[in-house]
Amino acid sequence: MLFDILTIFPGFFDSALQEGVLGRAIINGIVKVRAIDLRDFTADRHHTVDDRPYGGGEGMVMKPEPIYRAIETLKGEPPPPVTVLLSPRGRVLDQTFAAELAGLERLVLICGRYEGIDERIHDHFVDIEISIGDYVLSGGEPAALVVVDAVSRLMPGVLGCEASASSDSFSDGLLKYPQYTRPADFMGHRVPDVLMSGDHARIARWRRERSLAMTFKRRPDFLSVVRLDEKDAEFLNKMGWRPE
Ligand code: SAM
Repeated sequence: MLFDILTIFPGFFDSALQEGVLGRAIINGIVKVRAIDLRDFTADRHHTVDDRPYGGGEGMVMKPEPIYRAIETLKGEPPPPVTVLLSPRGRVLDQTFAAELAGLERLVLICGRYEGIDERIHDHFVDIEISIGDYVLSGGEPAALVVVDAVSRLMPGVLGCEASASSDSFSDGLLKYPQYTRPADFMGHRVPDVLMSGDHARIARWRRERSLAMTFKRRPDFLSVVRLDEKDAEFLNKMGWRPE
């Protein structure tokens, strides 16, 4: 999958794209990420990307022309991209949305700065807007990185162990069960015995129940949409959960 990131700070991505799972996916050629400098698409000698807002008010607004030119240039190269504006007004990224995006061949991610981007880009030149949560960042770059990371780890071959993405939080609609490693006793806090029992059926049931309990405690809203079997419902009922 190809991610083209349009930004006025291409250096922002340098170290993040070299590390860990994402760095390996790039080295292995499963994912390609290009951080493209929006200033290369300006037409004046100062490489201006922003201007004062019409109607007055605080701050600066990103001009439409460099963004338009960059989008058109990138559209001229195959494969055809889906253009994405990172924006607090966009559809909030969750695991389902990330999985939908992982099915695409190419994304152009446009990072805003300042007070945001001229509305005509929102209205006429992007396919979707994505928010990474209900808070305001100083720029779209951290959001673009979140999108690249969350989407990439869902692509075949990116995670060392294929099972890991499917057992992540959210993948089955629940939060993930707790994990432990050595030592078995850490400052008097012991790893649950069941995990050292070698009984795989009991371990699987324990993990399912911990996932259910964690989700009930922290994100009970998930339980109204997740697929629960009879055993799950019985376990949750005992904890005080009632289906809506
Ligand atoms: N004035 C804008 C508003 O109130 O909606 C916020 C502009 S913000 C300071 C600058 C840029 O950061 C935005 O254009 C957008 O690209 C990015 N950004 C901020 N919060 C974001 C979020 N929650 N998700 C995705 N992008 C975000």
